[in-house]
Amino acid sequence: MKIGIYGGTFNPPHLGHVTAARAAAELLKLDQLLLIPAGLPPHKDLPAGSPTPDQRLEMTRLAADQTGLAGRVGVLDLEVHREGKSYTSDTLKDLKARYPDDELWLLMGTDMFLTLQAWHAPEEILSLAGIAAFGRTEADTEELFAHQRDYLYKTYPQARIFTMTIPGVVDVSSTELREQLAKGGGGHLLPPAVYGYILRNGLYGTHADLKRLPFSQLRPVALSYLKYQRIPHVLGTEQEAIRLAERYGADVEKARVAALLHDCTKKLNMEQQLELCGRYGISLDELEQKALKLLHAKTGAAVARDVFGVDADVYSAIWWHTTGHGNMTLLEKIIYLADYIEPSRDFPGVDKLRRVCYKDLDEGLLLGLEMTIQEMTDMGNPVHRATIEARDALKR
Ligand code: ATP
Repeated sequence: MKIGIYGGTFNPPHLGHVTAARAAAELLKLDQLLLIPAGLPPHKDLPAGSPTPDQRLEMTRLAADQTGLAGRVGVLDLEVHREGKSYTSDTLKDLKARYPDDELWLLMGTDMFLTLQAWHAPEEILSLAGIAAFGRTEADTEELFAHQRDYLYKTYPQARIFTMTIPGVVDVSSTELREQLAKGGGGHLLPPAVYGYILRNGLYGTHADLKRLPFSQLRPVALSYLKYQRIPHVLGTEQEAIRLAERYGADVEKARVAALLHDCTKKLNMEQQLELCGRYGISLDELEQKALKLLHAKTGAAVARDVFGVDADVYSAIWWHTTGHGNMTLLEKIIYLADYIEPSRDFPGVDKLRRVCYKDLDEGLLLGLEMTIQEMTDMGNPVHRATIEARDALKR
């Protein structure tokens, strides 16, 4: 197996890192890519007020997710939790012990490649892993690499070196980004979920008021709660909710907020869901106690109100978005259906359901509820009584 190892301070991880990681994984045909945030970087001091190592770890996880290399990319916490300086030679020894039969490739940008001989134990590094170096800017051409490559080959005969030019390289550094973030900019140079995480936690001098976020910030913040695969669904739900709200004269802003936040606790497991239910005093019926899918609507509504200060209309639209209920408001219907028919949904009957929803909202809702009840029954799953009540109310 070919394993890429990409270390860095990742303070914060930015689009330069993500683009380089993705391109290197393709060019080197890596089976696996490991991102490893440094605990105490040997090459640079962490500026005062930097996020905690665990926050850098979490941001790196979000950035890894956004490489789109699902299943092939992972983040390791071995440097973050190691005492003392995070020497790459120690990390490589550790990884060699974990993967004795695999080929290790150490990924790095120009600045790191050009100073490799000055790192701690370069000989050991070069004996344990091949070096894969890439340019950080368009100006970092092959000529720049060639001189250093020759030098390393002469000095360390065991060296294996691969240099590459990355298409669409993003010329940005974490240092510049930290300055931009403190001045209210920089979001466009970060993976959206990382930007959202930074805003959510007030990192790097950002002071976003989470209860009054403009959509340009609410969107990345909402994405920072999601698994990568769920992002198209939530963005699709936002678009569908806008369209339905315009079509039926609902409050478009509220529809957007509810759509963006409706799945904000979806990635949590049962234990985490139950912890939130305890924290927010959410009582559960017998079915809900067992059905993870039903819990996220309730905990999502509670988080949306507590953290983002959403009003009662948005709160209840998120609360009822999975089951529906017997007396639904216009906004509740819109979020229920936007979630159901948004453009990335693909299941038998979705086109018909879309057509009916834009012809008559209640007819669409009835059809959606009936399809859900049928599907659950076919799968032998119990149907929540609120869903039955919603259908029966519409039939009447
Ligand atoms: P700082 O500005 O704090 O020095 P940085 O942007 O260089 O940070 P690091 O986390 O120190 O980020 O970098 C980790 C690795 O990513 C290094 O090998 C570095 O060369 C590489 N790298 C950093 N920025 C880019 C970029 N824009 N494109 C490609 N590689 C990059």
